[in-house]
Amino acid sequence: MDPADMDDEMNTPQRTRGLVAAAIVGVSLSVSAQNAGWDAKFRAIPDPKNIGEYMKRMSARPHHLGSAYDRDNAEWILAKFKEWGWDAKIETYDVLFPTPKERSVEMVAPSAFKLKLEEPAMASDPTSGQKTEQLPSFNAYSIDGDVTAPLVYVNYGRPQDYDELDRRGISVRGAIVIARYGASWRGIKPKVAAEHGAIGCLIYSDPADDGYVVDEVFPDGPMRNSSGVQRGSVMDMPTYPGDPLTPGVGATPDAKRLDMKDVTTLTKIPVLPISYADAQPLLAALRGPVVPGDWRGALPITYHFGPGPSRVHMKLAFNWNRVPIYNVVARMQGSTYPDEWVIRGNHHDAWVNGAQDPGSGMSAVLEEARALGELAKQGWRPKRTLLYIAWDGEEEALLGSTEWVEDHEKDLREHAVAYLNSDGSGRGFFSPSGSHSLEQLVNSVARDVEDPETKMSVWKRAQARRIANGSKDERSDARSRGDLRIAALGSGSDYSAFLQHNGVPSLDLRFGGFDTSDGVYHSIYDDYYHFTKFLDTDFAYGRALAQVAGSMMIRLADADLLPFEYTNLADTVQTYVKELETLLKDRQDAVRERNKEIEEGVFTAVNDPRRPLEAPKSETVPPALNFAPLENAANALTQASARYQKAVDAARPKLASNAAALRAVNARLMQAERQLTDDAGLPKRPWYRHLLYAPGYYTGYAVKTMPGVREAIEQKEYAEADSEIVRVARALDREAALLDSVTSLLR
Ligand SMILES: [Zn+2]
Repeated sequence: MDPADMDDEMNTPQRTRGLVAAAIVGVSLSVSAQNAGWDAKFRAIPDPKNIGEYMKRMSARPHHLGSAYDRDNAEWILAKFKEWGWDAKIETYDVLFPTPKERSVEMVAPSAFKLKLEEPAMASDPTSGQKTEQLPSFNAYSIDGDVTAPLVYVNYGRPQDYDELDRRGISVRGAIVIARYGASWRGIKPKVAAEHGAIGCLIYSDPADDGYVVDEVFPDGPMRNSSGVQRGSVMDMPTYPGDPLTPGVGATPDAKRLDMKDVTTLTKIPVLPISYADAQPLLAALRGPVVPGDWRGALPITYHFGPGPSRVHMKLAFNWNRVPIYNVVARMQGSTYPDEWVIRGNHHDAWVNGAQDPGSGMSAVLEEARALGELAKQGWRPKRTLLYIAWDGEEEALLGSTEWVEDHEKDLREHAVAYLNSDGSGRGFFSPSGSHSLEQLVNSVARDVEDPETKMSVWKRAQARRIANGSKDERSDARSRGDLRIAALGSGSDYSAFLQHNGVPSLDLRFGGFDTSDGVYHSIYDDYYHFTKFLDTDFAYGRALAQVAGSMMIRLADADLLPFEYTNLADTVQTYVKELETLLKDRQDAVRERNKEIEEGVFTAVNDPRRPLEAPKSETVPPALNFAPLENAANALTQASARYQKAVDAARPKLASNAAALRAVNARLMQAERQLTDDAGLPKRPWYRHLLYAPGYYTGYAVKTMPGVREAIEQKEYAEADSEIVRVARALDREAALLDSVTSLLR
């Protein structure tokens, strides 16, 4: 890091505290002089040219799960790992992966229109014409179906969109819904539609969200053109991800498999994604009331709710095959603590050619692995064992990582130190998320990596963004808190099984903010041509990603004392408790206000009789909840983490030379994240065991923190909220007790 930068960052007492602590925890215990400089040496090695070459090779042909080139890539990655000095192998599983056998959608009234369901090749884009190897556009894990029904437009298809429909007396029962992509994860749309009685679901990409409203469309610009379609999984992953037939266990050949009829994660209704060229005639023919302003997309039509007179016939049939997963697992043995594993991963499979998703992340990970191999040739030996894993089948349902974690659950409980994930990455700001016990490590590394465009540290640029775009609290935090806050993890990539099923501290690392890759996301146009024309064109941010993640891997592997830090975790937990209290209070206030307005006759008075809305029904005000156990436990954790920090600082000089003490301390620290899990799992979804972080049951990828409590309040299940408060409090108490046990070891 530039020393001038460092002075600048240390000009307030809080910053000094954060910086000093970060420096000590991460590095100073790996005291031996020959080790101290390895991560700086490492950062000089990654070369953007190589990253571009790996991407070009891996995205040269479509390589979805089960395809010939998917396997070819896995074998190529395996050979590369070996060439770079890693001990590598392919681990396989057998998973259920439906691919389209028949797809047809037509409007049968008021006029006839047959949807094309095709993305055309572009003359300027050399891989867009690889028709025979491309997976057609579809949503994986939709059920088969043959349905004909009137159409209803449901905006983004979230629960609150159905409240709007209810106020107009519009039901989707027996209808086919058309939802637009965006605002919630796609799998939520058919799930909520089916809960409301719909019998089919179409999902289209509106130009307002990722098309011509945002920027020029492909091939003139990066955004989605009229024929572009977003493929993607609609499996009910908030219930459990991975192979639908083998929940909770690895999908090995002899694993016990569910009968298809007992699988709960397939959709309940047939679903298909379409382009806006295909959607427009259907939407244009809808009548019924005109939708409110925030429901309108950017097509040159007046948007109506329906139902009908557009009547749609959709017929879908899939090949319900079992296909092999090829995870490539590379290992570099640790010299001092070989039984402690630091794990890094990115998926290698794509929906089609996948240059951005996953190529931008995967090729950076490969360059990291090459650079670490290079470092080993220069004499470096990681103290802990490194595992670098290229996952298969991420796109369908995090299949490769989930099956591997389920298969190796016992080993991971004993040996896993941390898991660092990446996936599609871009140009701009460093955007880390993950376990808050790793927040300080993330910050310390981010201060040491240079932003390719501004030459300031990636930390400094991320800080500037928070100040520029943040709320008042976020600005003040970014200026005065020692560490930038990292976001919590929901789902959407391969960390889920590590963190949420198995309690392994995890991070997801990426850059972004300037380029929108959304415009080709999961289409045939996410390819090398698009990436090198519109995104991280010189792979400079690919290099930055390799530098950030590789440096973290080295510090995790070499630090004598594991670089976990708990005062930041405790601080974040306190903010979650306050958020929940505010959530309940806001709900109480909102219900009280609405009940009052109903009494006052406000809804009747402001109603437009030509476009009448039904008045909402009065509701019972949410009861008070007892947050005391949670407040007490959060305070206990705050105190225990401070005691631990103090004890670590005091013990540091003698600890460095006491191998036995270090081992004992590290062994306990490795169990710290797991204290935040509960084997019973979350209500309605036992696969998810982490009590602080989960994807939302009704939002999909987006995170819900303290999900048991938060979702119970949102779903108005107040008795459950009270019992979940107690369960989270117990987990925080376990964490505090574990830290106290480490503190006593240090004394
Ligand atoms: Zn991806």
